[in-house]
Amino acid sequence: MKVLFVASEADGLVKSGGLADVARALPVELIKDNVDVKLLIPCYRPLIAQDYPVVADSVSVQVNMWDKFGCRFRKTELDGLTVYLLEHNVYFDREGMYDDGNQAYEDNGLRYALLCQAAFSLCETLDWFPDVFHCNDWQTALLPFYLREHRQFDARFNQAKTVLTIHNGAYQGYVPKHYLTNMGIHERFFTDAVFESYDQINLMKGGLIFSDHVNAVSPGYKDELLADETSHGLGYFFRSIQDKFSGIINGCDYGQWNPEVDHALPANYSAEDLSGKTTCKTALQQEMGLPINPDIPLLGNISRLVDQKGYNLLIPAMRELLSQQDVQIIVLGSGDPVITADLHSLQHQFPDKFAFYKGYSVDLSHRIEAGSDIYLMPSIFEPCGLNQIYSLRYGTLPVIRKTGGLKDTVKSLALNSSNWKTATGFGFEEQTPEACLKAMKQALKVYLEKPERFKHMQLTAMAKDFSWETAVKPYLKLYKELTD
Ligand code: ADP
Repeated sequence: MKVLFVASEADGLVKSGGLADVARALPVELIKDNVDVKLLIPCYRPLIAQDYPVVADSVSVQVNMWDKFGCRFRKTELDGLTVYLLEHNVYFDREGMYDDGNQAYEDNGLRYALLCQAAFSLCETLDWFPDVFHCNDWQTALLPFYLREHRQFDARFNQAKTVLTIHNGAYQGYVPKHYLTNMGIHERFFTDAVFESYDQINLMKGGLIFSDHVNAVSPGYKDELLADETSHGLGYFFRSIQDKFSGIINGCDYGQWNPEVDHALPANYSAEDLSGKTTCKTALQQEMGLPINPDIPLLGNISRLVDQKGYNLLIPAMRELLSQQDVQIIVLGSGDPVITADLHSLQHQFPDKFAFYKGYSVDLSHRIEAGSDIYLMPSIFEPCGLNQIYSLRYGTLPVIRKTGGLKDTVKSLALNSSNWKTATGFGFEEQTPEACLKAMKQALKVYLEKPERFKHMQLTAMAKDFSWETAVKPYLKLYKELTD
């Protein structure tokens, strides 16, 4: 079985969110199951600076009938996985991956069209032709279209199957329609049944139509994509492809996320001996400039600062909690300027209780996972979510909104606590700050008043196994079904 994984980011090289974690961990796991898998991502500015070895120079990639783009392939490795980097400096030597910090690049359609077409050029360069092209999100959603429309008479490719994994259905890749021809999409495909949405090109829609299989990254999110209210406007579209649509929960890369061996931590710990977690907590308090006291409950949150993550619920709930109780809260994130300003204002209001680190820091994210007692994840929607899974392994009980993958991975404590022996976190449903605050208080009550019970829940959480070793199985089965 040969699989080319094509993605727009990969952990260890360039990362903005969970897609990067999956683009690394899933292929690495597939290798262990004897799949011949390679990964292709763009060579963005920070990667150009690394000067990875060139495997092919002056490769001509054709995107439409006329235009050929001179590209280069470089190569590197992640945990034994060969990663090819597509170098085209006009398109990828830029400040950001998808935007300039404020606005999406206007030519994103062309940039990722090039990535999709380059996937075929890479195969030609390597003389290696996959059974499956595994695409991820809108950035690579054009590949199945190109395979069926541009490569239908090419015997090296036309037996290959395509899988499109939806990591986040809210980002659909809207492109102005005047790019149609330049992207090699004939006007006849610019209809509501294929690429058109609101008079623009919607890349994800085309991907849904042309892929041989589509999967969401959790069964819960799959169900949400099939329902009108929670499908980001594409419910009718997802329902129309139901027979090739599934939900497969992500795994967790315990090679990166394991408190027993995590190098980013000041102390390691395990379910057998949690004492290192207290060291992590006090070190984190010190690092973030908060009073050092292991007895004060510490709540953590790490995220892209976007509306999806529920800051409209969390910020008022945190303000209320901070004014009422002796707690500490740490937030690590970057993104939306309005959310950023609100978090700065909380920090000014509660300097001894609230710390906000604006930015992106993988090491600090590990230390927050380890040093906090409770993790906050009140997302409005969550395709799978990884931080709650990391939190479980780090014994940091998550407070979640019961949606998508959060609901699938965290077992919330009942209001009457009847299920405390099996629960792994705290949940709420209603999209209100009050409901969010209530769940946070429920967590704090157990932490403060029933420490033995809290510890039992920590141990239950730490024993949960979301390893890729298990999570990879449905993908293996899917590849086999598609290619048999
Ligand atoms: P999403 O993909 O929607 O961003 P996930 O929970 O699936 O959400 O994955 C987020 C990943 O990105 C996690 O690995 C998380 O630790 C990481 N992350 C998000 N924001 C930051 C940040 N500011 N600093 C470090 N890591 C971050």
